Amino acid sequence: MVIMFSRSAPDASSNRFLAALSRTERALVQGVAEPVELLAGATLFAPGDEVRYVIFPAAGLVSLIIDIAGENSVEVGLVGREGVVGLHALLGDTVTSVRAVVQVHGHGHRVEAAPLSRWARNSHNLHGVLTRCACAALLQASCAAACNAAHPLEQRTARWLLSAADRVGSGVPITQEVLAAMLGARRPTLNQVLVGLRQAGLIRHTRGHIAVADQARLEAASCSCYWMARRGQERLFPGSFGKA
Ligand SMILES: [Zn+2]
Repeated sequence: MVIMFSRSAPDASSNRFLAALSRTERALVQGVAEPVELLAGATLFAPGDEVRYVIFPAAGLVSLIIDIAGENSVEVGLVGREGVVGLHALLGDTVTSVRAVVQVHGHGHRVEAAPLSRWARNSHNLHGVLTRCACAALLQASCAAACNAAHPLEQRTARWLLSAADRVGSGVPITQEVLAAMLGARRPTLNQVLVGLRQAGLIRHTRGHIAVADQARLEAASCSCYWMARRGQERLFPGSFGKA
């Protein structure tokens, strides 16, 4: 579900992808972009859907999720203001295999994928931005796959919280139920991990809200997958997270 605001064009600072465009390219996008509100819990698209619009978040957090037949779903990517939701549609694959769900309320702009994809074929810079965005998404998905297979829940929880905080700030409004689902974990097991992180002073945890209390020690509790994805994003789009 996406709610449209009254019309206003995205500025260059609202989204890292848009910021990387040339002035001419950005003017093209601004001419067709429609503002949207991203409501927490809303499904932006589901497996099998045809994705007509891509979304450039300016605030908020969107999870990309793989539904495993007969089992739980697992998150394979996070998108905030550093990226684009529905990237595959810009690359020519308009039917999605993933579920995109808003985890943290926000807003942004949507643009019809087909014309933007055509512009990219005729613009060296836009094509380059799109390719870099695809590389960042591929790296993030690869890190998520490796992390889910190799690392214990405590490290994966720390990685998720740091990755989310990079995109929405140190306080992340999310429930244990949702976070457990994203991590493919049972809620009681995740609760034990969160209690341990809170008692160690690494996070503050209240109902429906988790905040990073000690960034350096939470980074130490995480795994190399966090840094691999983050450094890749920063290499491809410097300034994505405003630090590092
Ligand atoms: Zn890991």
